[in-house]
Amino acid sequence: MIETLQQPPSLFGLDRDDLARQLSAFSEPGYRADQILAWVYRRHERDPMRMSNLPGPLRARLPGLFDLSLARNVTVNSTRDGLTQKFVLELAGGMRVESVSMRTERRLTFCLSSQVGCALKCAFCATGLMGLKRNLAAEEIVAQVVTMGDYHRWKDDRFNLVFMGMGEPLANYDAVLKAIRILHEPRGLNLGARRITVSTSGLVPQIRRLGEEDLQLGLAVSLHATTDALRDQLVPVNKRWPIRELLDAAATYGRIVGRRVTLEYTLLGGVNDTFADAERLSAFARALPSKINLIPYNPVPGLHWQRPTPESVQRFAGWLYPRSPAVTVRQTLGGEIWAACGQLGGLSPAA
Ligand code: SAH
Ligand code: SF4
Repeated sequence: MIETLQQPPSLFGLDRDDLARQLSAFSEPGYRADQILAWVYRRHERDPMRMSNLPGPLRARLPGLFDLSLARNVTVNSTRDGLTQKFVLELAGGMRVESVSMRTERRLTFCLSSQVGCALKCAFCATGLMGLKRNLAAEEIVAQVVTMGDYHRWKDDRFNLVFMGMGEPLANYDAVLKAIRILHEPRGLNLGARRITVSTSGLVPQIRRLGEEDLQLGLAVSLHATTDALRDQLVPVNKRWPIRELLDAAATYGRIVGRRVTLEYTLLGGVNDTFADAERLSAFARALPSKINLIPYNPVPGLHWQRPTPESVQRFAGWLYPRSPAVTVRQTLGGEIWAACGQLGGLSPAA
């Protein structure tokens, strides 16, 4: 009777052990958990009646035990070239969250949100303007991946995930890590940790904690400035954990995990793009195993920063090249549908 009184838990928020535990409460053996994970994450089948290796009574009972639905409603906007899509997922309770899929020559990448809004209020970010509405639950993060995989018909068995959508992933640490473990599960989607990158504005204690997780996740830190005076203004969390502490935590992370850390640097015309900035940035980059990713500022309505010209981006990159280990310039994808970095925050193509 209990199962009919309560809202069943979302299947997408359960890892293999949770699922086996829940099933054992209904006297089902543990291997049923593996079978269900294989149907849902490997064969992308969410209709219990089609899960042919499960006994009939369990099939009939599954919808009462677990919620197998994704978002309440999903809208998709695609760029004209069909390479970038913005997904707006309506969650239980009516809030919306945005995710983006991007196809480049080399790979398909899903950009995930971890919160609705964000409390950290970086000076150039649309999500920061919203303030924090709420954290996402693990199932709401996993649902973004499944929704985008469905859209692309799971044709790419290898795709990358980046936590670079709405919200600060390390401020919603437990749900983000739970979602990552669910996606990483070898009997489920089996997504390699090396394909997942977590981007943070610089929550130092959580960066240190992430280094102890025994997962080889990619780490990107949002540096954006080379002096504390400027970073205090652009990324206010710098007042709590200044550049030196952030880089120290990033270096420790890189050493433990054995991967280069990405230093993200959003270029704001006339603000952080001088030769002196380039010199300091490359000195930072040389001090730890790292690569630099330059992001030309993407316009946000209501904010008045300047997008640098392609020439000034190239000039800045040119200053860095001879001095820095690796420099890339992030392609701007999805600007026409308000899906580029920093533009997620309820902006619509018509806005
Ligand atoms: N909260 C995380 C991840 C989300 S944003 C973080 O801050 O790292 C992904 C990247 O886009 C971050 O480096 C962020 O600082 C940057 N960004 C935010 N707004 C931007 C904008 N308008 N133009 C370009 N980059 C932006
Ligand atoms: Fe939050 Fe990241 Fe935007 Fe800063 S850049 S306000 S941390 S989502």
